[in-house]
Amino acid sequence: MTDFSDLMLDVVKVRRDFPILDRQVHDRPLVYLDNAATSQTPHQVITALDEVYRRYNANIHRGLHTLADEATEAFEKTRDTVRDFINAADRREIIFTRGTTEAINLVANAWGRSELKAGDEVLVSRLEHHSNIVPWQLLANQSGIVVKVIPIDERGVLDMDAYRDLFTSRTRLVAVNHISNACGTVNPVAELTRIAHEHDALIMIDGAQAAPHEPIDVQAIDADFYAFSGHKVYGPTGVGVLYGKAALLEAMPPWQGGGEMIDQVSFETPTTFAAIPHKFEAGTPAIAEVIALGRALEWVSDIGVSLISAWEQRLLSHATEELSRIDGLRILGTAPDKAAVISFVVDGAHAQDIGLLIDQLGVAIRTGHHCAQPLLSAFGVDATCRASFAAYNTPEEIDIFVESLDRVLGMLR
Ligand code: PMP
Repeated sequence: MTDFSDLMLDVVKVRRDFPILDRQVHDRPLVYLDNAATSQTPHQVITALDEVYRRYNANIHRGLHTLADEATEAFEKTRDTVRDFINAADRREIIFTRGTTEAINLVANAWGRSELKAGDEVLVSRLEHHSNIVPWQLLANQSGIVVKVIPIDERGVLDMDAYRDLFTSRTRLVAVNHISNACGTVNPVAELTRIAHEHDALIMIDGAQAAPHEPIDVQAIDADFYAFSGHKVYGPTGVGVLYGKAALLEAMPPWQGGGEMIDQVSFETPTTFAAIPHKFEAGTPAIAEVIALGRALEWVSDIGVSLISAWEQRLLSHATEELSRIDGLRILGTAPDKAAVISFVVDGAHAQDIGLLIDQLGVAIRTGHHCAQPLLSAFGVDATCRASFAAYNTPEEIDIFVESLDRVLGMLR
């Protein structure tokens, strides 16, 4: 039995911050284990959103009136909070996007289209979410770049020898996640970056799953680009971050054109663009969501990402131990360094059926391909069940989940 007693995380207090955790689903207390898809939102973040619309809703940057000033100040404060959260050197290196997906598409379109020529190579790992595969494939279709795949072993760990061997004089970028959403592998991102840089290639790190689980230090990693989403780190949907080294961002052309991203617009002389980060923030952004994202990151930092991570590691061991008792259950992804995500399949029961039936017992898990079809095909399956944990989950919830799974399997097998 996993021991939780020495950890300082007061989970009862943490849970009090999340109003949604009080709700019932099918007349049972909600057990929410779909955190890798979207984590729940603490009342501090909900209040931050509410306050914007009640007190200082206005468009930012251009207004001279008080509300515009207040909204701009709160919006720009989040840029500082994000800078601190990922230890970026400069607030101008923080660009707000709609999420990880848009951040990666920004790099593929702004940097990729201007820097890459036909025959240039991008290395993408087999562990990637579709959002770090398809933008590079679209670019391959348009510009003739070549996408090469870093293989994994049977545990879901990157094959580092194969990675080194993939580099050629045409390799320009490595696109890899920090943590796999489908099987939890934590990648050695600093080492991957060091090797990429030895070959004069850049690295784009998808940190969607790392932001809630792992302290992030983009300078220690030496990341060129790093992306994450608000809604997986206790923040709102519709907002995310792209970090890019200032020199790279300055050299890149804009991606989307519109208001906010210009310096001077003219029909007579060439239109000129704003300095970074605004060059990459065309149009009205998700103002309230950005402000509330700042509150979410403060919430995480107040508890401490390392403490959250330690708590989740105990949940992971407990769940792994309990699930391993179930006959015919196979866990996919057994990396030694693994985040709080468990993907599994069970002999004689389809993932979809398990997901539907266990929901009837109040337990929310995710089933399907988790937007990682190449990874699932490497494991020889087309769908898994996935339970993923957050700061507010408890060992008791894991026990309910495993008992419920047992009941469901009794019906299906
Ligand atoms: N990368 C990873 C590893 C993810 O888990 C996700 C979301 N499941 C994404 C990218 C995409 O994030 P978003 O949908 O917020 O853009």
